Amino acid sequence: VLQSASKLPSKILELMDGFRASKALFVASKLKIFDHLKDKGPMKAVDIASDVGTSVCGTERLLDACASLGLLEKTPQGYSNTDSANTYLTSDGKYSLHGYIIHSNDHLWPLFTNLESAVKEGSRQNHRAFGKKADDLFKDYYHSQEVKQRFMAAMHSIANLTARDVATAFDLSQFKSACDLGGCTGALAHELVQVYPNLKVTVFDLPEVIANTSYFQPSGQHTAPVTFVSGDFFKDNLPEVDLYILSRVLHDWSDEKVHVLLSKISAVCRPGCAILLAEMVLDDEKKNRSTALLQSLNMLVQTEGKERSGSEYQALLEQHGFTNVKIRVTGNLLDVILCVKA
Ligand code: SAM
Repeated sequence: VLQSASKLPSKILELMDGFRASKALFVASKLKIFDHLKDKGPMKAVDIASDVGTSVCGTERLLDACASLGLLEKTPQGYSNTDSANTYLTSDGKYSLHGYIIHSNDHLWPLFTNLESAVKEGSRQNHRAFGKKADDLFKDYYHSQEVKQRFMAAMHSIANLTARDVATAFDLSQFKSACDLGGCTGALAHELVQVYPNLKVTVFDLPEVIANTSYFQPSGQHTAPVTFVSGDFFKDNLPEVDLYILSRVLHDWSDEKVHVLLSKISAVCRPGCAILLAEMVLDDEKKNRSTALLQSLNMLVQTEGKERSGSEYQALLEQHGFTNVKIRVTGNLLDVILCVKA
């Protein structure tokens, strides 16, 4: 019996195709097609192919697919960027997602190819995807300058997109000093000093990361400088500040390692000082937020960690003396949790 169009399982059909659409976006980004079309009038496929150095027949199909997905506009004059492509898909804008898209193609795609093994074994798949087994995921990322730069660019792009909502989810004006533990390129730190001009912000990250941060610093900024300190938050002394920030850090680690880190923070944290978490917070029943639940699969294929619900974060924090746990769902990719040392 033929299904009528209204009875087709459209959601399932869309999901079956989802990887094709992702890959079309990734390849167009890798070929820098959106950079190529920026600030230009419509271009014909044959001219784009000749400039980019690709086949005309392949390029035309890719461009048509991107236009059908709403990434490009197609008119009789040729292809041009949509407004959203100009803002998010070109590689140089403040809110560019290019870094995260390249990371998705080059790093997450091979990892997700091994999702079945990850589910069967309950563990990360870096050795299958990349042929080696490092003892922690950041050693995988930082063994080569190229992979490290790619990872940092990916973190930077999501941090730029979320920083304003993270910085303003709570009024942080009572804090005089903050340390962004695992703060990577300093994108959130720079947003914080803009929103709170009296806040002194230190970014604390592994030496390999700190050595690479200059590339990501904003030019012509008129706010207080951000300080960068290198160290290992599991082993080294932490700076003494009023506010410890952990953005997309706890989700990398098992509950055991989260306890180690929270107890170190608790040991240096004075009463009244606080922790600010930025994570994709799952709903308590773990059934409603597919972006966050898919991110938890992303954590499974590459880390020891997982995404957690608000109650799970609250329980972890309370065990280390952090109370008055408040959660703000921002509507952006990251939600924010603030708690205070009793
Ligand atoms: N906070 C940034 C953000 O939200 O964009 C980066 C998040 S990234 C998933 C985790 C960060 O933790 C990386 O910058 C990594 O280098 C840092 N990190 C991992 N292990 C660390 C350690 N032992 N000591 C200090 N930083 C560490």
